Amino acid sequence: MIEIEGVTKIYGEGKSAFHALDDVSVTIRENEFFTLLGPSGCGKTTLLRTIAGFVDPTRGAIRLAGKSLLESPPHKRPVNTVFQSYALFPHMTVAQNIAFGLEMQGKPRVEVKETVARMLELVRMTPMADRQTGQISGGQQQRVALARALAPRPEVLLLDEPLSALDFKLRKDMQLELKRLQAETGITFIFVTHDQEEALTMSDRIAVMNAGRIRQIGSPREIYDQPAERFVADFIGDTNFVEIELLETEGETAGIRLPSGRETRARSGAEARPGKATLAVRPEHARLVPPEEALMAGTLAEIVYFGTDTHYHVALDSGARFVIRQQNAPHHRQTHATGDRVGVSFAPGVGQVLRD
Ligand code: ATP
Repeated sequence: MIEIEGVTKIYGEGKSAFHALDDVSVTIRENEFFTLLGPSGCGKTTLLRTIAGFVDPTRGAIRLAGKSLLESPPHKRPVNTVFQSYALFPHMTVAQNIAFGLEMQGKPRVEVKETVARMLELVRMTPMADRQTGQISGGQQQRVALARALAPRPEVLLLDEPLSALDFKLRKDMQLELKRLQAETGITFIFVTHDQEEALTMSDRIAVMNAGRIRQIGSPREIYDQPAERFVADFIGDTNFVEIELLETEGETAGIRLPSGRETRARSGAEARPGKATLAVRPEHARLVPPEEALMAGTLAEIVYFGTDTHYHVALDSGARFVIRQQNAPHHRQTHATGDRVGVSFAPGVGQVLRD
């Protein structure tokens, strides 16, 4: 529904030219909760602002339902933005803040009243309709900012790290709230965050960005289980990287040789060619086994207890480190000690061969 095609944004000229966005293409579907995820400075906000109309791309096209958006000024686009600093009007009440956009559109008074009442219900702020916005909490202000942005029923809502100012508990609540609001309103949400956990829990699909480019697009599960390259595997969750030799591929499966000389199977990326490669294995997908049964052996260097699980840091014979995360059973007893000779194992097919 929103087509972003070859969008490039260059700041400066000549030697000092800087690509904030470098040939970004993505199609965002109707009613989708779509997240732009990446480290600080990767271009997430710039991309959001080109959709909103606050930044003009140097090249490329942005279309909504087939029609180009680029010729329209921000206020003429069927798009609304919720910023990190949600900037409510402090001298107005909650209800007046929500009504503002509708009044600017010249909507009849009865309709404005009805819509404001519905929005107040939606964000669960009806009892506070007549409070000044300076007299409500940060989380409540956030909900009012959302209601204000949703009230004119934009086709697309752009959200730029809207939860970053909230404390942990409120943030968790608002994540669920936002997900519910998106499902209830059917509005397409494009959400910007640098928080991978937030992206994984809320999104239908995620675009992982780095240095002005989209590195991978997929569902949270695809991004987590099948990272296409080292950057994505490293940025999302914890990952072990093992230098391997790719022997041959058959469809999505690759035969690989580990540094220990043992051979097993892994999932291969689309471009996997025989030769040196990197294997990514999530800590929770591996287990500690007796050295003689293991794919790789080493010495237990560290044991870190986390309550729900325990992390075992193994110094492999190859010299690399490998972390295993095992869930703790009730009344579990630690049977390992640092310095123990241990083995690392994982099922065939759980590792992912990465593109460099
Ligand atoms: P953050 O999470 O820190 O907000 P971001 O991924 O949203 O980061 P952007 O704000 O999109 O990053 O910025 C991308 C890059 O473009 C940054 O390196 C930034 O310094 C640069 N940039 C942004 N606006 C301008 C500008 N007006 N002039 C020059 N460079 C800019």
